Amino acid sequence: MRIDIMTLFPDVVLDMLCESILGRGQERGYIRIECHQIRDYTKNKQRQVDDYPYGGGRGCVMLAQPLYDCWKHICDEAAMRVHTIYMTPAGSVFKQNDAKRLSSEYDRLILVCGRYEGVDQRFIDECVDEEISIGDFVLTGGEIPAMVVADAVCRLIPGVLPDEESYTNDSHWDGLLEHPHYTRPAIWMDRAVPDVLLSGHHENINKWRQEQSLIRTRDRRPDMYEKLELT
Ligand code: SAM
Repeated sequence: MRIDIMTLFPDVVLDMLCESILGRGQERGYIRIECHQIRDYTKNKQRQVDDYPYGGGRGCVMLAQPLYDCWKHICDEAAMRVHTIYMTPAGSVFKQNDAKRLSSEYDRLILVCGRYEGVDQRFIDECVDEEISIGDFVLTGGEIPAMVVADAVCRLIPGVLPDEESYTNDSHWDGLLEHPHYTRPAIWMDRAVPDVLLSGHHENINKWRQEQSLIRTRDRRPDMYEKLELT
């Protein structure tokens, strides 16, 4: 999987995505994440990437031209039209199933980070295949949303995590929240680890974890619990 991120803050994004598991995934060649400075594609002296909105109103809008030239440079190098996602609070809300879908259907993705009031609609109409929001709130820029999507997608690429169970047991993989975890010591602040986890009885441990997972989902996410097909 290769992800190209179009942004005004490439260093911030790379600092985050080149650390830890995703950093090792890149060193070992399972994934590649490249950031592109949109400002490098401006054609004016001031390297300006935004302008006032037609029709008036507050704020500025990102110009279509530098966005398009940056996007075209990435697609030309790839020798294909790369599936392009614009991060926007007006997009469909990102779920684990989207991470699954994007990681299995595409070898390459472009993520576009907006700033200011957003980007000229004509760039979206010309180049964008999908619009994704990371939740019903507004951030100052698309960098954090792009990092969220890149992280969620890349950790599902074979080789990035040690094995499939590292993510198929996680919350949201199959419509459930995960059970609670405990580690040493067995008693901390007078709080004991549940006996069953110290029993060494794997069948009972699995049963307890399944029950806890169901209880958590029911109590915390009744919307998810309602969708479960329980036997
Ligand atoms: N005026 C826009 C609106 O009301 O929809 C919000 C613009 S926001 C201040 C600037 C940029 O941050 C957006 O272009 C988008 O790229 C990003 N952004 C903000 N919130 C987001 C969210 N919840 N999901 C994805 N991207 C978001």
